[in-house]
Amino acid sequence: MKTAIDVIRRLKNAGFEAYFVGGAVRDFLLGKNPHDFDVATSAAPEQVKGLFKRTVDTGIQHGTVLVLAGGAGVEVTTFRTESDYSDNRRPDSVAFVKSLEEDLKRRDFTINAMAMTEELEVVDLYGGRKDLEEKLIRAVGEPDQRFREDALRMLRAVRFSGQLDFAIDEYTLSSIQKNAALIGSIAVERIKMELDKIMANKHAVRSIDYLSLSGLADHLPSGGLFKTDWSTFQPTGDPLSGWLYAFWHNSKDVSALSAYKFSNEEKIILKKAMAAASLESWNPWTYYTYTPKQLELAAALTGRGDGWIEEKVSLPIESKSDLAINGRDLMDWTDNKPGPWLKEALGEIERRIVFRLLENEKDKIKDWFLDEYNRDK
Ligand code: ATP
Ligand code: MG
Repeated sequence: MKTAIDVIRRLKNAGFEAYFVGGAVRDFLLGKNPHDFDVATSAAPEQVKGLFKRTVDTGIQHGTVLVLAGGAGVEVTTFRTESDYSDNRRPDSVAFVKSLEEDLKRRDFTINAMAMTEELEVVDLYGGRKDLEEKLIRAVGEPDQRFREDALRMLRAVRFSGQLDFAIDEYTLSSIQKNAALIGSIAVERIKMELDKIMANKHAVRSIDYLSLSGLADHLPSGGLFKTDWSTFQPTGDPLSGWLYAFWHNSKDVSALSAYKFSNEEKIILKKAMAAASLESWNPWTYYTYTPKQLELAAALTGRGDGWIEEKVSLPIESKSDLAINGRDLMDWTDNKPGPWLKEALGEIERRIVFRLLENEKDKIKDWFLDEYNRDK
């Protein structure tokens, strides 16, 4: 926060207006530690860049410059408004405006539309403070119009409800119910980002209930996933815990994976976690072959607790490369040429070591192996 205050002071000393805005003000008033500080200013992007040594053009076309100072980054955005929402999506253009008022007016919800000076004086034009006290998500202005401008806001309302454990104001909610179909005009990538945030939340179930209640689920790809019983969902903080829960409770219907363009990495984690969760019991081989992330997700899903951590860290080896022997050793000991036998023998040694039937020591492995090898002959 100190860095952000320094940034605001410098802008003001140069004759510009500058305020904390958005999520930082909201979280500050809630007594939470904001995870980042956004500053709004009357200075144009080029003027902001002129005032600070180190800046990055993170979103210069939207008027945002990232100022690097004191080991932190502060996003400084020129007062702006958005215009010409031709298709319920992002604005066609942004226009810089003179006043803070106009900037706050374009923001989505009253609790996100407050500003604060570096002296911690709050500018609250839309009753954001009252809504914070009453734990309400309420659109700034006429909700129908705001959701028609940008339909993603409907999903953001649902996301904030879980993130903050707030209710959605009745009038705002009824507007979402009326306009829910507009969510179909939003790119799935943006939708998935909000759904990920929803599922990572401690109060995810509150948001997911709103997905049904608001009618948004009816217009989301694979929306049926959000209409089943989520009452036993225990979020781990990882969005994949939610997706895994959804797939698991829908007969493993994974059609959402392509609908939401999951990355290959996400797909693999989910597939493996589902396989691990399907196992009737877990043994050392399970702990050995699945990654911590896959085990964590599968354990959370099936209520297995976190005993897997201890099991995983106490395994004799982590991977094949930890084996005290290799294929070369086996060939030397037996004077045999490579072939299918080699892979099979290495696999059996690996398995025995993981199950602690054999110690991972060269001599011990050799004794055991030659014994087996000669017996088979
Ligand atoms: P979080 O803590 O989740 O980052 P946040 O409030 O900072 O919450 P962001 O998505 O980072 O949320 O957006 C920053 C601010 O920009 C919001 O508080 C809001 O004022 C404004 N904003 C963001 N997206 C929209 C939108 N689609 N429509 C209107 N205003 C928006
Ligand atoms: Mg933010």
